[in-house]
Amino acid sequence: MIDAAVVLPPLLGLFGACVGSFLNVVIYRLPREDLSVARPARSFCPRCRRSLPWHENIPILSWVFLGGRCRGCKAEIGLRYPLVEAATALLFAGVTHLFLSRGIADGEDWVVLAVGLLLAAVCLVVTFIDLDWRIIPDEITIGGMVVAPLLAIAAPRLHEASWLHGVVVGAGLERHLAAAVTALAGLIVGGGTLWLVGIGGRLAFKPKEAGETTDAMGFGDVKFMAAVGALLGMESVLLVFFVGCVAGSLGGVGNWLLGLPEVLREVGRHARRHGRGARYTMLAAMRIGWRRRRFIPFGPFLSLGVLLVFAFRGGLIEFLLHDWPQLVQGLFAH
Ligand SMILES: [Zn+2]
Repeated sequence: MIDAAVVLPPLLGLFGACVGSFLNVVIYRLPREDLSVARPARSFCPRCRRSLPWHENIPILSWVFLGGRCRGCKAEIGLRYPLVEAATALLFAGVTHLFLSRGIADGEDWVVLAVGLLLAAVCLVVTFIDLDWRIIPDEITIGGMVVAPLLAIAAPRLHEASWLHGVVVGAGLERHLAAAVTALAGLIVGGGTLWLVGIGGRLAFKPKEAGETTDAMGFGDVKFMAAVGALLGMESVLLVFFVGCVAGSLGGVGNWLLGLPEVLREVGRHARRHGRGARYTMLAAMRIGWRRRRFIPFGPFLSLGVLLVFAFRGGLIEFLLHDWPQLVQGLFAH
């Protein structure tokens, strides 16, 4: 007999590479008003608009054999295209392996696995569109807010670990309906949390110049977390927010360090122009330098949180409530 746990992960990995090829199309076309994801059906070179024959459109391999260039106009094709395909392949194989190794008991477990694959794809799209455009498209966020409660009804197991689901079922509600209730609660908590943080951010960082937006959170993040809350429940979405903030802080420090040379150059320019010792111009220059690199999109970090929480929710809670306090205690107990 064929063992699904051995055969399916590599198969889904191959399928993931093809999905990744499609995700590249989605990432490129979805934010562009003049393009639709479905039309034109064939992929094309963004520069010469030549549509690609099938053998120039094989995930990862075509990019390697073409040396990362369009065969028609020799325009460079970014390394990001094969990377997105490889990342999708790895995530699909990984998610499949993880959920199969935990055991598949019934149809609902298959739905949960399928949701994991869908989430992996969506998170990749959100990450790269947010990096490119600083937005998360409504098609994804509002679409998610509509689809997630339906998935909850189809597979209540998505919400069975939730505290609220236990309470509502305990009160006598049927489990499919209870999952729908949990999904709606997650939608409100997920969106509400980010919305409140956004209001707090606006109060803390009042816009100083006209037209300069200093929103700590864009509204796309709010809608995205509402969708995630509806899919994963309110405890999980809070955990996603927490993981996203930790990852975002680390990313912020990294971004700050990467921006340091640019800031120093700016300070140097000002110091030469205005004479040495002009401390206020140094500060002004530093402000200019920081401003250029101040915004880092939150979507990629939230996406990372979504995937980690979906895959390792139990382990993450265990770490936060048990291992982490013990580690801190161990550090200060002497
Ligand atoms: Zn071309």
